[in-house]
Amino acid sequence: MTQEELFKNIISHAKEYGFIFPSSEIYDGLSAVYDYGQMGVELKNNIKKYWWDAMVRLNENIVGLDSAIFMHPRTWEASGHVGAFNDPLIDNKDSKKRYRADVLLEDYIAKIDEKIEKEVEKGRRKWGESFDEEQFRATNPNVLRNKQKRDSVHERMAEALNANDLAALKQLIVDCEIACPISGTKNWTDVRQFNLMFSTQLGSVSDESGTIYLRPETAQGIFVNFLNVQKTGRMKIPFGIAQIGKAFRNEIVARQFIFRMREFEQMEMQFFVRPGQEMQWYEKWKATRLAWHKALGLGDEKYRYHDHEKLAHYANAACDIEFDFPFGFKELEGIHSRTDFDLGNHQKFSGRKIQYFDPETNENYVPYVIETSIGVDRTFLAVFSAAYKEEKLENGEERVVLKLPAALAPVKVAVFPLVKKDGLPEKAREIMDELKFDFNCQYDEKDSIGKRYRRQDAIGTPYCVTIDHQTLEDNCVTLRDRDTMEQTRIPISELRGIIESKVDYKQLFKKM
Ligand code: ATP
Repeated sequence: MTQEELFKNIISHAKEYGFIFPSSEIYDGLSAVYDYGQMGVELKNNIKKYWWDAMVRLNENIVGLDSAIFMHPRTWEASGHVGAFNDPLIDNKDSKKRYRADVLLEDYIAKIDEKIEKEVEKGRRKWGESFDEEQFRATNPNVLRNKQKRDSVHERMAEALNANDLAALKQLIVDCEIACPISGTKNWTDVRQFNLMFSTQLGSVSDESGTIYLRPETAQGIFVNFLNVQKTGRMKIPFGIAQIGKAFRNEIVARQFIFRMREFEQMEMQFFVRPGQEMQWYEKWKATRLAWHKALGLGDEKYRYHDHEKLAHYANAACDIEFDFPFGFKELEGIHSRTDFDLGNHQKFSGRKIQYFDPETNENYVPYVIETSIGVDRTFLAVFSAAYKEEKLENGEERVVLKLPAALAPVKVAVFPLVKKDGLPEKAREIMDELKFDFNCQYDEKDSIGKRYRRQDAIGTPYCVTIDHQTLEDNCVTLRDRDTMEQTRIPISELRGIIESKVDYKQLFKKM
């Protein structure tokens, strides 16, 4: 199965089992907007809880916030979004398809990288045991030629982006002979800038002064509340403010399911530090965030850092944590050293003094900021796609199973009476009524036990409990494990403890 086919299967599985539906589907959907169904909302909430607790509960010096989506329009002038939150777009005149110029070039670079890796693989197969990869990379003519080409495109792209030189970007696309994947032609328009913010009108005023924006990031709500939180919470630097909330971007090209949406959710934490200490905190948060991801157990090799060439208008260092999605390594989380850009500008634009008095140094200053910013939806996609497995069983049957981290699973335990009679449903309900205070449970009495197991596998339920006739005599049930499919007989009194030890968030936090 190709990665593309796998991705298609993942998308249809998400719909079939109530995780994700296209928005307003009865009207044929709305491009790049999605709804989370009955299973999706549970998984999404669990992801948010994992993040929130890792930030706010496990760190004494990080507190939460829930600021409004609408903000004073001056906010977005101060933050630089009105002037600089643009993407360079280019159209193919034949297919009429629109692309981000930088993405076309990045895809081109990724293809050269693939060629290099294929050459290295060829060498490895040829030389076997005695293969010296480092030497091969340093001397093989094909590798060297491709590497030189790659570096040159990369350098020209970074220069053009940093200088906002749209003509140079276009020229690079022409020089690389990049063709439109749809029409196959190289008939491109010029590159233009496109602002990604959605605007709307406040109240009944319809002139310029009433224009407000849907926030394109949650961070600004944190910055404008810096003093409120610092003063009322008596926070001492270094400290952080964490927030989860919706953000909106009029993305030029919205593709790849919930990877790039026009309405999405972010989990952001702004960590305020003393100027000059930002680099050490930047490194610390890079490491801490990667550990948070890896604790999910989806595979350490699925993550990598990617340092930014082009720094956003506010940053002095930035990197992404990338995840190996079914369509390759792409950004999952951004970690940025934002300097005092935001607080400094809000101070300028609002005319209010936004400073911190540091009792240790006896100084007033505008704090520096390290930001960690991660998309809830992208995390959902990462977890969901890595957990999705199509397995062939020993008895020749097949099953689709979501091997979700147990703490994130929408349903933790499913309770089945073996048959719909003889008092078994009543006993099953009795057990479920006890468990439901601690865990999200599902009761199911329809179809064979085998079919019921498959339905729970498909939504990632870590445990199934079956009540049979013997249960009525010895108060023992069969506990079936999602991943190993092993079935063990255990006393009802032990159920809660066993399930809890598996699905508790503590299991994840301890690995961080
Ligand atoms: P990209 O380069 O992919 O457009 P970005 O660098 O603009 O992303 P940030 O501004 O750093 O993204 O936003 C922080 C996080 O928010 C991203 O790492 C991602 O997880 C999430 N995010 C950003 N844009 C979207 C989107 N359109 N849809 C879903 N999630 C998004």
